[in-house]
Order: sequence, then C-alpha cells, then structure tokens
Amino acid sequence: MKLYFFSSGILESYKGLFVQNGGDSEFNVPVPFFLIQHKGKNILFDTGNHKDDQNGHLLTRLLNGVKPVFTDDEYAPNAIQKVGVKPEDIDFVIVSHLHHDHAGAISEFKNATVIVQKAEFDYVRRPDYFMTQAYYNDEAPAKVTNFDMKGTDANDLDNVDWYFLDGWNDNKFDLFGDGRIVIYFTPGHSVGHQSLLVRTDEDGDFLLCADACYVKETYNQGALPGLVALCPEYLQNIKTFKLLEKTGVTIVTGHDPDDWKTFKHAPEYYK
Ligand SMILES: [Zn+2]
Repeated sequence: MKLYFFSSGILESYKGLFVQNGGDSEFNVPVPFFLIQHKGKNILFDTGNHKDDQNGHLLTRLLNGVKPVFTDDEYAPNAIQKVGVKPEDIDFVIVSHLHHDHAGAISEFKNATVIVQKAEFDYVRRPDYFMTQAYYNDEAPAKVTNFDMKGTDANDLDNVDWYFLDGWNDNKFDLFGDGRIVIYFTPGHSVGHQSLLVRTDEDGDFLLCADACYVKETYNQGALPGLVALCPEYLQNIKTFKLLEKTGVTIVTGHDPDDWKTFKHAPEYYK
C-alpha cells in the first residue's frame, strides 16, 4: 500500500470559518486530498477544488471571505500525475462530503466509482440556508446570492458513477474487505460527512478526518467549527477520533495549516 498526501493549493480564509467565534483574522489553510494505492487499485479520498475556481472565480460570488488559490500543477487531476497516476487510472473516489473544496474535481475521474453518502447527495439539492454557499450546484446558490450557476458546469454530477452509502447502516464500510480502507460515517460538519481510516503496512494507521475535524483547536478544546450542520453529532465524532487515537491511530485534521506541515507530502508517501 502507498498513501500520498496532496494539497490542492490553499484557501485564503478567516479564522471564524474554522473555529466558531474565532474572529475575522486571516487564516490560510491547505486543501488536502489523498491518493491510496492498494491491491493494484487507485483510490482518491477527496479531490480538492474545481478547476474553474482557481483564484476564487466561482466562490467569490458564493462563500464570502473564502478564496481558493492554486496552480495548475496543484489541481488534483494534474497533481496525481507527478506520482505516475493519470485521472483515468483512478478506480474509486471516496468523497468526504460535497463541499466545494472536497468535491470540486469529482467529474474529472471518468473511470471512477464515486462513493458518497446518499444523505449528502440529496442535501446538495435542498441545503439549509446557512449551508447553501458551501456547495456548487445550479440551484442552491441562486437562492441566496442571485447568482445563476446554470451553464457554468461547476459540477457535472449527472455523469458521475455514484455509489451511495446509507449512513449508520453502512458505518465502517470496508472497501476491500480486509480492514485496510474503512469508511466511517461522521455526520456533523455536513449531514452526510464521512471520514477514512487507512491502515498501512509499515507506517501505522491514519484517520483522514476531512471536515469532521477542521483544525487541532476543534480537536483539543472541543470548539465547534464555524460551519456545522449538526452540533451534537460533530462533537460525538471528536470523541470517536480520540478513542481511535488512543488505540494508536494518527489523526489527520482536515484543514489545520500547522498540522499539515508535520506530514510527508507527495511525491513522498507512507507505506
Ligand atoms: Zn466542508
């Protein structure tokens, strides 16, 4: 097995988005996504931003105060090529949730089965008002911003080969049946969020939290994130993660800039 850590550039942002009541000071965060190679298959966990959102072309109209900044080389379908993997080589995309900075490139992996929670998929079409701006779709943003997304092809969702998971009924979904790549249902930040446990051969076990745990502050101090759909569920996830950490699992937070620096980045990998 190989586990690569990538970042699709950064989000220029502000602290309060990541830590509730965190204020409006500048806070720039990585946009992680991961490539796992196991049993001859290529698996992505998340995909980073959409190509048309480089320098915030779409989001400046959507999520106030947030601007994706990335180079062509950092765009996920290009970035994976530096370790010899082409977009058409990806067999599975496991997407933590459908927010713009995680699902932005899912339609680029033409041969991939995209594994998402059904609750998340359905919610994108009818989000609550406070969550509307975090999703790319051709209906929801118009309700809040009067910005018509139709025709921008922000996410070509109809041509994606979806595989839906059913919440708690599918909790700890074991992709290969060998306990090495296990999907945890972690609703809270969004209604259909999921995180990924990866058990490597030599370098130990990693829990890729994604936005179920934005930053170390939310992990260590129990602070809520600025953007959260279900507060009790969010806090329960943190308890689960702490339990896993106690068993020896390395916790990988979703957007912590300092935490991110402590990991190996592609083309280096964990094995
Ligand atoms: Zn999110």
